[in-house]
Amino acid sequence: MIDQLIQLVYLVATALFIFSLKWMSDPVTARRGVFAGVGGMALAIVGTLMHPLIIGYSWIVIPLVLGALAGIPLSWVPLTAVPQRTALSHAFGGLAAGLVGTAKYFLWAGHGELTTFRMGAIILEVILGYLTCTGSLVAAGKLQEVIPTRPIMYRGQNVINFTLLALAIGVGGMLMIDPSRTFLFPALIVLALAFGVLLVLPIGGADMPTVISLLNSYAGLAAVAMGFVMENKLLITAGALDGASGLILSIVMCKAMNRSFTNVLFGAFGQVQAGVAQVEQRTAKSATADDAAQLLENASSVVIIPGYGMAVSQAQHRVHDLYEELTKRGVDVKFAIHPVAGRMPGHMNVLLAEAEIPYDRLVEMDDINPEMPRADVALVIGANDVVNPAARRDKNSPIFGMPIIDADKAKVCLAVKRSMNPGFAGIENELYFADNTLMLFGDAKSVIGEVVKSLAGGGSGH
Ligand code: NDP
Repeated sequence: MIDQLIQLVYLVATALFIFSLKWMSDPVTARRGVFAGVGGMALAIVGTLMHPLIIGYSWIVIPLVLGALAGIPLSWVPLTAVPQRTALSHAFGGLAAGLVGTAKYFLWAGHGELTTFRMGAIILEVILGYLTCTGSLVAAGKLQEVIPTRPIMYRGQNVINFTLLALAIGVGGMLMIDPSRTFLFPALIVLALAFGVLLVLPIGGADMPTVISLLNSYAGLAAVAMGFVMENKLLITAGALDGASGLILSIVMCKAMNRSFTNVLFGAFGQVQAGVAQVEQRTAKSATADDAAQLLENASSVVIIPGYGMAVSQAQHRVHDLYEELTKRGVDVKFAIHPVAGRMPGHMNVLLAEAEIPYDRLVEMDDINPEMPRADVALVIGANDVVNPAARRDKNSPIFGMPIIDADKAKVCLAVKRSMNPGFAGIENELYFADNTLMLFGDAKSVIGEVVKSLAGGGSGH
C-alpha cells in the first residue's frame, strides 16, 4: 500500500517536472514553471521520506537542515552571480551522485552483491558525478574570476585529457570484470575528479555558458545512473529530463555562438590569444549626456543593446525611463537581445521584464541584425563582447565565429561603459574606436539617468 502511494507521489512529481520544463520555455508561463518544479521537488522529497525501509530519521533530518542552511544564503546571490551559483549546484549534485555510488559500491562489495549491471551503473554514476563536481567547481571559479577566465593551455593537453578518460574507462572495465578489486575504486574516483578539472581549465570564458549547461546535462546523466543504482524511477526520469534539457540548451547556445561542441570543448587547443597588450594606442571619441539626448531625440529609430554592465549597475529602471521618454516623442525604440548577453541565458530578458519593458519590444539577434543598417542610433549599454566586430573578422580572437549584434552598422553608435576595459572575453573592442561611435563614460545607471534628465528637462536644447 505504502509502496503504491510512493509510486503515485513520484508519478505526480514526474508530471510536474515535465510541465515545469514546458512552462519555463515561454516567458509568459515561466513563473508557473518554476512553481511546478518546486512542487515536484517537494513531492519527490516527501515520497522518499515515506520509504518503508527508512529505520530512523535523525541521519536524514540533520543533513536536510544543514543543506537548507547552506542553500538559503545561496539563493540570495545577486542575479549577476546566478551562473556561478548554478555551477555550484551542479558541483553539489555531481558530488552527491559520486558519493552515493561510492557508498553503494563498498556496501555491495562487502556483501558480494555486485552484479555486472549494478557495477556498470555505479561506474557511470561515479565517473559522471565526480567529473561534474570538479568541472563545475572550475567553471564557478572562472565565472567568479578566482581562476583566470582565459583558456589555460599547455602542450599535449588534449592527449593528456583523453588518456585520463581512457584510463578511467579502463579501470571501470577492470572493475566490471572483477568487482572485488576494491583497491581500484579510489583510482577511478581520482581519475574522474582530475578529468573534470582538466576538461574545463582550457575552456575560455566566452564558452562558459555552454559548458555550464553541458555540465548540467552530465549531472542529469549521473542522476539517471544513480536511479538505476538505487532502483528509483523518479531519479531516472528526473535525471533524463535534466540531462536532455541541458543538452538541448547547450546545442541552442552553440548555434547562437556558431560553435560546434568539439570546438567549444577542444577549440582552445593551440589557440593564440589576441590579448589586450598588442593593441596600438588609439583614442575613442567621447560625448556628454546632453549630446546623447540630442542624438536620441532626433532619431526616428533607436536600437538599445543591453549587456552585462546594465545588470551590474542595475540600470534597467533608468532604461525603462529612457524608453518612455523616447517613445513619447515618437521614436521607435527596440531592444536587441543577444543569446549570451550578460552572464546567463535569458539574463537581459529577466532584467527588462522586471523593468516592465513591453515584451514585444525585445527582438532576438537574428531578427534585429537586418534592421541595424537602418537604425539611426545603436545605444550599447554595458555590452562588449556581444557587439565586438572582431568576432566577424579576427581569426585569432577567442570569440571568432560568435554571431554579434551589428551595432557598428547603425548610423551612430553610443556606447555606455565606465572605461576602456575589456568585457568577459578579455579582448579589446574596435567598435569603441570606430568613426561613428561616441563613448558615454560612467556607470550605466547614472549615465542613462542623466540622459533621461536631459531629455525630460529639455537639457539637450530642444
Ligand atoms: P561583457 O562582459 O563582454 O562586457 C560588459 C561590459 O560592461 C564591460 O566591458 C564593462 O566595461 C561594462 N560594465 C561593467 N559594469 C558596468 C557599469 N556599472 N556601468 C556601465 N558599464 C559597465 O558583456 P556582454 O553582455 O557584452 O557579453 C557577455 C559575455 O559573457 C560573453 O563573452 C559571454 O560569452 C559571456 N558569458 C555569458 C553567459 C550567458 O549565459 N549569457 C554566461 C557566462 C559568460 P567597464 O568595465 O569599462 O565599465
